[in-house]
Amino acid sequence: MKRTTLLHLGTSLRSRLAAGAALLACAIAPAMAADVEWKAGIATVKITPEMPVMMAGYANRIKPFERVALDIHAKAIVLEDREGQRAVIVTSDLIGMPSWFAEPLAEQIREKTGLSREQIMFTWAHNHAGPARAREERPGPGVALADARNRVTYTRWLQTRLLDLVVQAAAKLEPVTLSHGRGVAKFVMNRREFTPEGVILGVNPQGPADRSAPVLRIDSPDGRLRAILFAVAAHNTTLPAKNFDLCGDYAGFAQQYLEEKFPGVPALFMLGCAGDTNPYPRGDLEITRTHGQELGREVARVLETRLRPIGGPLKLAFGKAELPLQAVTKEMLAPLALKSESWRIGSAQRMLAMLERGERLPTHYSAPIAVWQFGNDLTLVALSGEVVVDYVSFVQQALGPLNLWVAGYANDGFGYLNTARLQAEGGYENRGLSGGEGWFAPEAQDAVIAKVKELARKVGRTLPEGDTRMSAAALQP
Ligand SMILES: [Zn+2]
Repeated sequence: MKRTTLLHLGTSLRSRLAAGAALLACAIAPAMAADVEWKAGIATVKITPEMPVMMAGYANRIKPFERVALDIHAKAIVLEDREGQRAVIVTSDLIGMPSWFAEPLAEQIREKTGLSREQIMFTWAHNHAGPARAREERPGPGVALADARNRVTYTRWLQTRLLDLVVQAAAKLEPVTLSHGRGVAKFVMNRREFTPEGVILGVNPQGPADRSAPVLRIDSPDGRLRAILFAVAAHNTTLPAKNFDLCGDYAGFAQQYLEEKFPGVPALFMLGCAGDTNPYPRGDLEITRTHGQELGREVARVLETRLRPIGGPLKLAFGKAELPLQAVTKEMLAPLALKSESWRIGSAQRMLAMLERGERLPTHYSAPIAVWQFGNDLTLVALSGEVVVDYVSFVQQALGPLNLWVAGYANDGFGYLNTARLQAEGGYENRGLSGGEGWFAPEAQDAVIAKVKELARKVGRTLPEGDTRMSAAALQP
């Protein structure tokens, strides 16, 4: 126990000394370009559909949006450290980017900019008030053929817009400084409500949630604010299924608030581990705007506090965790295909049909994970899928809690990334893969954390030894 305490003390002292040294360096030589550790190129693009497109996120909504309440955007920051290591973060007011969308786009970006897959981080706000994308024109039940076609046309148009966005950002690198802080998002609410009938999508004020709002501030060397990257861990679902106003939900209004407060400064939004959290309360456009403004004010407040300077170099690692899926048999699936929860019955039927046709079910899903190390100052862990809140503490325990930013909804939207706890408790987040068939096995969480540790070691983060769960005894002075 003593060892853990000393380790944390040591790290925190080192961090404070490093932060102090960096501040001192800034004070002595503010604008010497040669001393500037970072360059950044920032670009934004409007991605509001120019045609009627169906809305994403709620399965029962089968007609296009009716009105644009607020334009939606995609934005990119290309970073380059002193040694020329480059990387790009793409943010978007979209529902998600499955691998069929993300991987061809990454390849096009590589051809045009030279950025390889590990240098590219795609993220999305999981916006349920935005447009749907689709690969195929096949209309679903109740969907008009023209609407199904427009969805595909929009998706192709979006892909070219996102490619141009990254090309533009990469073409205008200028010296910057980076700093990091953290605010609080009070409207984040656990949504797994326990009822006599099981776990429902509701409101659970006693459930876990990550209410942090990490902020990355990007300034020109003379101290002018150039861009803001911020994150929150709640679904962009303030607006319900009956909404047909297109906008970016609370994240869109938060970006708008900041961009009006700081004219000419792009504000970029990322999600945290929001898989089992919603905004609270939910409802209409007014509530959505209120959440956005509250978040915008909090980010603006954090920008004015003393932030931690971030030094280089930038080290990147990208890998895939092989996540085991539950082994299922016809005998197990047959009763579930007849009667079970709404989120399970469809996939039980499809998996049963596959087995009856003699097909094999997949045994694993390859989930991308990225770990970016910024000097000794910040580790950004970006998990894929709809990551539930348990992963925040799992990653903290695996890597140590300091200087850590845990993001979800990055690089591949394959459905919910749940944990053994949620599987045991039941509920919607256990619905499994969205683009294929399969429910995660309890051991999937271990595969995620093993890969996070491997990648974090690769980029040089010092990991705590042994079991790092914070016991009550370890917290004693
Ligand atoms: Zn979701």
